[in-house]
Order: sequence, then structure tokens, then C-alpha cells
Amino acid sequence: MTFLASGEGPTFVIVGGGPAGVSAATTAASLGARVVLVEDSVVGGGAHLWDCIPSKTMAATAATKDLIDKAARMGVVAGSARVDQNQLAERIRTIWSDINIGFMELLLSQDVQIIRGRGSFIGPNRVSVETQEGTREFDFDFGLVSTGSFPRVPDWAPVDGERVLTTRHAYDLDVVPSHLVIVGSGVTGVEFTHIFKSLGSEVTLVVSRQQILPHRDPEVAAVLQNDFLEKGVKLVIGAYASATHLTDNGVLVECDDGRRMEGSHMLLAVGSIPLTRGIGLEEAGVRLNRAGFVQVDAYQRSSVRHIYAAGDCCGKMPLSSVAAQQGRKIARHALGYPVSPLDYSNVAAAVFTSPEIASVGLEDVTAAAEGRKVRTTKVPFAANPRSVLQGREEGFVKVISDPATRVVLGGTIVGHRASDLIGIVALAVQADVTIDNLVETLMVHPSLSESITDAAE
Ligand SMILES: Cc1cc2nc3c(=O)[nH]c(=O)nc-3n(C[C@H](O)[C@H](O)[C@H](O)COP(=O)(O)OP(=O)(O)OC[C@H]3O[C@@H](n4cnc5c(N)ncnc54)[C@H](O)[C@@H]3O)c2cc1C
Repeated sequence: MTFLASGEGPTFVIVGGGPAGVSAATTAASLGARVVLVEDSVVGGGAHLWDCIPSKTMAATAATKDLIDKAARMGVVAGSARVDQNQLAERIRTIWSDINIGFMELLLSQDVQIIRGRGSFIGPNRVSVETQEGTREFDFDFGLVSTGSFPRVPDWAPVDGERVLTTRHAYDLDVVPSHLVIVGSGVTGVEFTHIFKSLGSEVTLVVSRQQILPHRDPEVAAVLQNDFLEKGVKLVIGAYASATHLTDNGVLVECDDGRRMEGSHMLLAVGSIPLTRGIGLEEAGVRLNRAGFVQVDAYQRSSVRHIYAAGDCCGKMPLSSVAAQQGRKIARHALGYPVSPLDYSNVAAAVFTSPEIASVGLEDVTAAAEGRKVRTTKVPFAANPRSVLQGREEGFVKVISDPATRVVLGGTIVGHRASDLIGIVALAVQADVTIDNLVETLMVHPSLSESITDAAE
């Protein structure tokens, strides 16, 4: 395949400039396509404006506050810390703006044409965009739907952005809520539980199943659940919130079994809805499933073969990293380069709580459910000198391998910086590394990474 000069190749029109759209745009442009990126809000998408970046900025502030609160244990005499909500909101805006500038520079340096406005498909090869200056239309050889998703709001929750919130309202509050009731205990719900508890709120978490993080290894969920209880988070287990009433001082949340909890604010973390309706997709022949996600094949092609879909709008794995990787692969596939389908079983993912939880590949609970024989080895961070000297002994490293071939199949890390450490295990899984290779790898001493080699033994 010869590389084309920038802009000489086929036209690629991308609707939605989040991680999926931006990575498709930069890859397609680098391979010579003429790229038009349509975005009705900010380049970087919901991931930068509402999701990954602001939530992890808040988590970083929460971690700093936790560190100061625990400073005495490290021999540091520090006063009591308090979070200034206005400064935190300002920091979120600044970080977002800096990242946005970087993204814009990257796209413009690659001659990607950025069109501000709402895009709709008006046929299988044409997109129309409502811009401030009027309607513009673009023909394409290849199209990409990367419009993302927005928070799901059940009909019993009168979201007003002041007392009853979605995650999108969490970053710009005037005050840290005195008592936050969080409904939903998946990744987003537990991350906000950790954040607001550290920032100083009283937190009640409504958990619809019998454990938080319902789809995760119970051993992992138990570590976090115990940590929440130790910190004074109130867990309402096995309860479905079904009504909300605004009161003089806040909100009253009712569950279908009659349990009631009152707080100053309520935050919903109950999933998201794809942004795929009303933008001409079905009229252009693009099939959606009943939940509204674009139906795609292993190469992210929709029912209209030259219109692809990526990211949250196709509902495969709602992660920024996955969206970006899908975008890259789509650009290569559309332009005729060899591409392998994305392997969703090897995606590293993290929960940014304290301790952090990160995993990749096979979990031993999944192996057990499938009746698959695996070798599971586990070491606690309490046995790692670096963890102990940092005062972060909580959690463990678990490595799953194939007993016959000794190849690493997966791993779970619960503990300080688990989201960074999991990268070593992710590489091992991706490259079919054996546990013997891991054991022979000389890590720095003392370091948290030593627990990975120890766990492989
Ligand atoms: C609170 C929270 C925290 C998260 N944290 C993480 C994390 O730490 N790590 C991680 O990997 N994932 C995280 N996620 C998930 C991650 O944010 C999403 O998976 C990711 O944003 C999906 O990227 P996307 O490109 O599909 O969509 P988005 O990032 O949502 O971007 C879509 C873009 O399309 C635009 N758009 C929509 N319709 C149109 C239209 N008709 N015309 C023009 N533009 C349009 C939107 O304005 C938006 O900018 C988090 C999610 C939430 C809710």
C-alpha cells in the first residue's frame, strides 16, 4: 500500500469528535484521506468535557486530600485540609481547555477540516451540518458515526442540575454536597462515591445488587466495599431507587422495598443512552438495535458497509481507550490497510477509587464459570516493602495463567496505582508472555511492580 499525500485520498466524514472520532481523523489524515470532522460541542468529546478528564481531575484532588489527611501516619505534621470547590471547578476548566488546545493543534496540523455544528446523515453518502452560518453539506466516500452517549435519566428522577444531578452536573457545583445519595454502584457510581467522600460529603450509595461493582470478581468488590464502610459510606444493598422528592433541605430518595434515604443532593449513575436518534441514520440505511446502538460487524462497519460506527454509540465497551482504538482501526480498514478485529477480551480497564482496581484478560471467576482450568497466584501488597513504606498496604496482585502452557491469561490488581501497574500485565497478555518470563524480569527494588513478578511465581 502506497501512502497518499495528505488530502489526496478518499473523503472521510466523521460525525462526533470524541476519542473515537479524533483518533479516526488523525489516522485517516496521516494515511492521506481528506478528513472532515463534524462536532457540535468540543473536540475531545464527552470524554474530555464530562467524563474521563473531569472525573479523574476530581479524583486527583480527592487523592491529595486523602494524603494530607493521612500525613500524620508518615510523620508529617499537617493541618486539616479542606477542598475549595470553586478552585477545583476552575482547575477542571483549565485542564480541559489545555487538553482541548492540544487536540485542536494536532488535528489542524494534519489538515483535518473541523466543522462546528450538528451533523445528520441525509443519505448513504451525504452529511448535512447545521452551523452558526447556516447549513453545509458534505459528500463522503467513507462515513463514521462517533456521536457518543449521554447519561440515562429514569423517569422517576426529576433532574434539575442543582439537587438532582447526573454526572455532568458534578463538576461545577457551588458547594461540596453535605450529604450525597448516589444511585448506581457500577464503575461511575463507586468512583463518585470515593471522590465525594474524600472531598468531605457524607455519602449514601444505593446498590441494586448484593455487591457493588456487580459484574466484577466478588473478592475485588469486597475490598472496595470494606474500604467504603471503614470510611463511613452508608451502603444500601439490594435496593432499587424508584422515586425522588424534593424537600425543603434537599432530596428524599425512595426504594421499591420501602427504604428511604434523605440527602442534600442526589447523583444518578445508572448508565448511558447512545446519541443515535434524529440524525438520519436509519433513513440512510444504518441499522440500530432496540436500545439505539449502531449495529456493527467485527470491523465496526454498519449495515451500510462504507459507514462505520465507533465508541459509545455502538455499545461494545464504553471506554475512551476502546473508542480511540476502534477509530484508528476503522481509518486503516476503510483506506485498505490490513486490520485485525479488536480483541475485547484483552482490554485493560480501571476503577479510579482508593484503592484503585484494574484488570485485564481472564478473571478467575470467569474461568470458573466457564469450567476452564487456570492457575491463579496472588500476593498481597502488605508483603511489598514499597507499599508498606508508602503507607499503602491495601490490596493485592492476582495473575491468571494457563497451567499447561504457563502463558499469562489475565490479571487483577487492587491497590495504589493499580491503573498504571496493570499495563505490565496487559502487555504480558497481549504478547503471550509466560509466567516464567515475568518471574525472570528484574523489577526495580523497592517498587510496586515487584508484586507482579512475585505474584507470577
Ligand atoms: C463519569 C464518566 C467517567 C468516565 N471515565 C472514563 C475513564 O476514566 N476512562 C475511560 O476509558 N473511559 C471513561 N468513561 C467512558 C468514556 O467517557 C466514553 O467511553 C468515551 O467518551 C466514548 O467516546 P466517544 O468518542 O464514543 O464519545 P464522546 O466522547 O461522547 O464524544 C462524542 C462527541 O460527538 C458529539 N456529537 C454527538 N452528536 C453529534 C452530532 N449529531 N453532530 C456533531 N457532533 C455530535 C458530542 O458533542 C461529543 O463531543 C467515563 C464515562 C463517564 C460517564
